[in-house]
Amino acid sequence: MPGKSTTTVVNVGYRSTNYWVVSAGRSRLLVDIGWPGSLAAMKANLRKMDVPLGELRYACATHYHIDHAGLGEELKWEGVPLLVLDVQTESIPLMKTWTKPADRYVEITPDGNVTISCDESREFLNRIGIPGQILHTPGHTDHCVSLLLDDGSAFTGDLTPEEQAFDNPQALASWSLLREAGATKLYPAHGPVRPLATR
Ligand SMILES: [Zn+2]
Repeated sequence: MPGKSTTTVVNVGYRSTNYWVVSAGRSRLLVDIGWPGSLAAMKANLRKMDVPLGELRYACATHYHIDHAGLGEELKWEGVPLLVLDVQTESIPLMKTWTKPADRYVEITPDGNVTISCDESREFLNRIGIPGQILHTPGHTDHCVSLLLDDGSAFTGDLTPEEQAFDNPQALASWSLLREAGATKLYPAHGPVRPLATR
């Protein structure tokens, strides 16, 4: 099922959180978007990993918690549009309730957001040269999504690890969905890359 992929992946993360840059040549997608107030760290890590900020076509958060979407608005100011899944829209205004003034969170506005459905994601990603799709994978939150590339790479954010999800039927269903759709290699938002156990 998985086709031959031309994508590459690097981690530009910091503070115990992975931020993945998926690239098809110079067309790049940032998966998870930094802590609030950390634009300098994000820029430094992009530079260190040879990812020009101007080559990020979109930034997409697996879910709208502060360690995953804290720089959403500031990256728009830098010219990187925010790719939002329709299942996430209502969660964005709640971001400010998780932050304190000292966090220097810049509230995400609807301006410059590109909102699509999961059903539209394959065609959308295809247009920027990235073979894959975005799946709705609730379990950690109701609005969590995962990017699944056609080579089996799955960017699962904070989706509860399957072996710990025995009491979380939503998460278990998300793992089944990912597996059935071809996921084989996991890129979580925290911790190392690992294989998805076969069932
Ligand atoms: Zn997290």
